[in-house]
Amino acid sequence: MPAPMKSTMMPVPLSLNHLLERAGTLFASNEIVSRLPDKSLKRHSFGDYYRRTRALSGALQGLGLQKGERVATLCWNHHAHLECYFGIPAAGGVMHTLNLRLSPDELGWIANDAQDRFLVIDDLLLPLYRRFAHLYKFEKVIVFPFSGAPVPAEFTDYEALLASADPDAFQYPPHDENDPVAMCYTSGTTGRPKGVVYSHRSTVLHTLVASLGDFWGLRGTDVVLPVTPMFHANSWGMPYGAVMMGVKLVFPGPHLHPDDLLDLMQLEPPTLSLGVPTIWMSLIQTFDAAQSPDSPNHGRWKLPKGMRSLVGGAAVPEALIRAFDQHGIWILQGWGMTETSPVATVSYPKAELRNASMDERYRRAAMAGVPVPLVDLRVWGDDGTEQPWDGQSVGEVQVRGPFITGSYHQVAVDPEKFSADGWLRTGDVASVDAMGFVKITDRTKDLIKSGGEWISSVDLENALMAHPAVAEAAVIAMPDEKWGERPLACVVLKPGRGATAADFGPHLLGHGFAKWQLPERYEFIDAVPRTSTGKFWKMKLRERFASKT
Ligand code: ADP
Repeated sequence: MPAPMKSTMMPVPLSLNHLLERAGTLFASNEIVSRLPDKSLKRHSFGDYYRRTRALSGALQGLGLQKGERVATLCWNHHAHLECYFGIPAAGGVMHTLNLRLSPDELGWIANDAQDRFLVIDDLLLPLYRRFAHLYKFEKVIVFPFSGAPVPAEFTDYEALLASADPDAFQYPPHDENDPVAMCYTSGTTGRPKGVVYSHRSTVLHTLVASLGDFWGLRGTDVVLPVTPMFHANSWGMPYGAVMMGVKLVFPGPHLHPDDLLDLMQLEPPTLSLGVPTIWMSLIQTFDAAQSPDSPNHGRWKLPKGMRSLVGGAAVPEALIRAFDQHGIWILQGWGMTETSPVATVSYPKAELRNASMDERYRRAAMAGVPVPLVDLRVWGDDGTEQPWDGQSVGEVQVRGPFITGSYHQVAVDPEKFSADGWLRTGDVASVDAMGFVKITDRTKDLIKSGGEWISSVDLENALMAHPAVAEAAVIAMPDEKWGERPLACVVLKPGRGATAADFGPHLLGHGFAKWQLPERYEFIDAVPRTSTGKFWKMKLRERFASKT
């Protein structure tokens, strides 16, 4: 019998600190650009970034930050927020991104639940802080003077704090790859927010997987525009990937209006951008409107040709994918959630699609896509069995993997959230086809059941948004005495376009819907309400319309 093998690879922990050191050593001259409140651009090199981040870590240690303690951030997207992404974990702390779109009550509740020790905040957001300061007391509030104004005396000045620490003297505390590095709360649109905690290991693995060629395809020469707020699901992991590869970043700061984003794209043309579908919907509408010779914006903008755009967080309508492709911009859809780090599936052209028609490519690009490496995915039927990958059978998506959360901060394991055999129950309903493409039809709570049959709100929305007069559409269930539920479509028309409910029936029939699947009622509204992460907020529409007849 040969002796058992003992010699394998080194047990070096996966660590964000390695990525930071790499950025400082290899990419010192590449740039990080931030748009300031006055819309000017501030430039840093990765060399500056590296030194400032290490100074932040040293300063936090100087303040007595202990391993595993939480440091909250309440910031727009800019270089100082990126410093927190690496500087807080490097000091042994856990970066807790607070969502600046939440109400003061929610912020107070979340900070209390996380027991955050310090807060790093932009001066622009101090008015928001003052509205929840009475609900939770941070030991220290560190203010980043984003606007350039002096920091009020009752707070700690972020720049002065950095200047007080020597980046060369900073030493990483010993750490394990399973130590926590960051935390993010679920949005709470489906219940009380819950804290998801990421580790060095989960974050490094997620970053490596998401950066692969068929997904982000992150290249050293890329210029990345992260429109996704850095408080949302760790901005989909892009800040980690960008530091790992020393990729030039262009942060939009607080200027997220389509006009501002289009202006920024002229100044610093991105090769890769990321955001939720609603952002890109308003961007393309603003751009298209500017093509009219009568528009005051005529000739003001060009779209960056060849840009890849990562879009996810909600279903991406096929019409949006086609509209951007007309301008040479390819939209790559991903599906995931705060709990999944977040990238769990990506829709990309698999080898089998090499010779597929453009229609087929668009159809697939509008699906959630294929599970990424290290993520196991199954569809669990109402009957308690795993469903076949036949493109027909639907059930709840369940996932498992090293960057999928195994529990929530201070919450007992809940059978609503985890299966008995330890898979995460996502609450999303989908089918998977033989090629492994996941197609999300709904969230469990958004399902419409009419006469015992499911109708997909996502499919109806996508078809409605393909109508030339429709800017946005959200479909909800309304109670119905005879059928249980019937679909109700809330439609936002494009400016200057007219359409009535009667126009939509034939349009939807042309998209392959059966008559019984068509919306029972249409409501024309000015805008679809958005959640704190910019997605359609159907709960608000249900409150407004679904109980009325
Ligand atoms: P919330 O939507 O509550 O803010 P998350 O940001 O964690 O919380 O969102 C996760 C959810 O977003 C998923 O469970 C799913 O319902 C939805 N989602 C994300 N990506 C997609 C996608 N590509 N297609 C359809 N739904 C998506």
